[in-house]
Formats: sequence, C-alpha cells, structure tokens
Amino acid sequence: MNQNFAIQTIGILGGGQLGRMMALAARAMGFQIIVLDPEENCPCAEVADRLLKSPYNDEVACLELLQACDVITYEFENVPLSSARILESKLPQSSRLLEITQDRIIEKEAIRSLGLETADYHTIRTKEELDVFSNFFAQNPHKTFLKTARGGYDGKGQFVLSGPEDLSIFSQQHYNPDRAYVAEKAFDFDMELSAIVCRSARGESKVFSIAENIHRNQILFQSIVPARIPESTRKKAEEIALQLADGLNLQGTLAIELFLKGEEIRVNELAPRPHNSGHFSLDACLTSQFEQHIRAICNLPLGDVSLVSPCVMLNVLGEDMEKLDREKIGKHKLHLYGKKEARQGRKMGHINVLEKELNQCLESAKTIL
Ligand code: ADP
Ligand code: MG
Repeated sequence: MNQNFAIQTIGILGGGQLGRMMALAARAMGFQIIVLDPEENCPCAEVADRLLKSPYNDEVACLELLQACDVITYEFENVPLSSARILESKLPQSSRLLEITQDRIIEKEAIRSLGLETADYHTIRTKEELDVFSNFFAQNPHKTFLKTARGGYDGKGQFVLSGPEDLSIFSQQHYNPDRAYVAEKAFDFDMELSAIVCRSARGESKVFSIAENIHRNQILFQSIVPARIPESTRKKAEEIALQLADGLNLQGTLAIELFLKGEEIRVNELAPRPHNSGHFSLDACLTSQFEQHIRAICNLPLGDVSLVSPCVMLNVLGEDMEKLDREKIGKHKLHLYGKKEARQGRKMGHINVLEKELNQCLESAKTIL
C-alpha cells in the first residue's frame, strides 16, 4: 500500500464534543474512527464508525482499541493514566503529557520549570500543608481560588476564599485529606487569553490566533478573536505557546490559558487537546483546531491557520437551549453536540458569529442568545 496512507483508523479515547469534532474533521480527510467511551449516546458515537462501549479503565477494551487502530488520541485529560500507558505505542500525545495536565500541581511545576510564570500558589497535599496555608492566609488574607489538584473543569472542584471564615467552612465541610489542592492567590487580570498550538513529531508548530476569553461562573461564555491586545502582547503569548510546545515535546494540540495584566502574562492552565476557546477556528480559520490536531497526531504537514474573519464564539449551555432560535442565529454558525439532556451549565453547542468587523461580531452576538 502507498505508505502515505498507512494510517487509516484513528482511535479516540473519550466521546465528548471534542472527540466528536475531531472525528468529523478526520472523516472529511478519509480516516475511520473508533471511539472508546462508557456512554452509548456520547456525542462522538453518532459520527464515529464504531463505538467501543466500555469504561475508560477497561484493559481488554483498551487492548482492542490498540489492536484496531493505527493512531490513538485522547480528547480530554481525565482518562486514566493506566489506559494511556497501554496505548502508548500508538499515542503521539503520550501518557506523560496526560500525567502533567491531570494534576494542577505537576502542571504548575512543569510550567515554572520552563521559566514561565503562574499565579502565586500554595500546595495542600496533607493536613500539615493545610495548616501552613491557614497560617499564611490568616496573616495575608487575599481572595484565593482553592482548586482540587485533579479532576476539576469548568470551575468544578473550586472554592473561592474571600476571608478566614471561608477557609474554616472549606476545612470543616469540603476538605478531603485524601485529595490534594492548590490555593491560588487571585490574579487581578485585565483580560484572559488563550493560545492554541499544534505540533507534530517532525517538530513543525503553528499557533492559532490568540483568543480573548470571557468567563461567567468560571465557565467560558465567549471568545473574541482576534484578542484586543497590542502586537507586542500577541507576540509574547505566541512565544509562550511555542516554548511550551517545544519544552513539553508536544505531538498534538496544547491549549494554554493565560492571564494578562498590563504587559505581564501568567499561565493559568494547560489542556493537552483542542479547547473550547479554539472553536472559532471551525469557521474563522483556513484550518480548524480539530483538523490540525488530526494532522499533528498523524505527523502530516500542518494546515494554514490564517484567520479569514474576526469571530465571536458564544457557548450554548443547557439553560440556553430553551431560547435557542435558528431564525435569530441567521447566517451565523451553530454547532450542536448532539447531547440528549440539557442540564444547567452543560456545554450543548456553540455559535460562531462572523462579520466583516470585530465590533459588528460583538454587536450581533448580543442579539443571538
Ligand atoms: P477550570 O479547569 O475549571 O477551567 P481554571 O483554573 O481555568 O479551572 O479556573 C476557571 C476560571 O476561574 C478562570 O478562567 C478564571 O476566570 C478564574 N480563575 C481561576 N484561577 C484564578 C486566579 N488565580 N486568579 C483569578 N481568576 C482565576
Ligand atoms: Mg480553565
């Protein structure tokens, strides 16, 4: 067979919306998709060639996926490390990147070891470290984000401490001595940004346009692209992305959430996969983050990431479904993930608002939801 077509089947660990959008991009390129997910009705199942319905930690199912696929990817970071290790020989993203991004403490250490800055933080891995932090906090009361080191997303597993009374509520009602936490001093940012970079085994890297992100209740509400920042800041954010991609020996996609204050940039967190704040690329770029991710894990030449239109990406959450109206959305681009149940705060889809000028995108975005 033509060696250029040696990769035919791509396996995806995790069948959420990111897996679904990876699968749609991969199928357009002629690949077959097998998804492993415990849910029959997961968003990826209806666009994959085959669903391996199984818990993520099922060794037999992982071995079956390994045998049936030429390349394997994960679409979220909370899949078990043990499964990633079983799949390692066909997993360009690697279990190591998963290990780093699964744990906020390891992740922050990795970021700092590359010379980049994070928010100031204390680790709380033991009762003793909780006491050390409590003493520090009593002396230096400051708004603090207490986050579980593992398993959190969309603000889940976070407690905001405004004063010592909040810490005693946390200690008495929420603290679990079997878990680790980070207590992060609130960073008084002007703006949140994200950079999405894809890199292939041959060392080719490309960064998408930097997005400006607005969160509501710690869930992404909208991404504005291009971010309204000076050229020097944009360059700096891109450099951080490339530095992390090289430093972590990335093969695949890395999303980097950033805090910006004046000219200072701190790295908030990393995701080893396409990211919600990169969904603008589906309609506003020559190559989407999902297509680029597939190219990167297959070690194919990367696509052109040029931005062809400014864009405001609006998330559609469970509570927005009632008022969603295709007439009102009009010419703008609705993407729905096929989720059957619309729960509060659950990401059901998104809308890419495209106009000639960014200001027009922002105006149109106000009238859609
Ligand atoms: P998640 O994994 O839930 O996305 P994040 O650490 O990104 O967790 O937190 C979600 C949001 O909460 C951030 O995008 C930001 O708006 C806010 N936040 C988190 N940590 C801090 C911090 N140290 N300072 C200021 N805001 C923060
Ligand atoms: Mg985040």
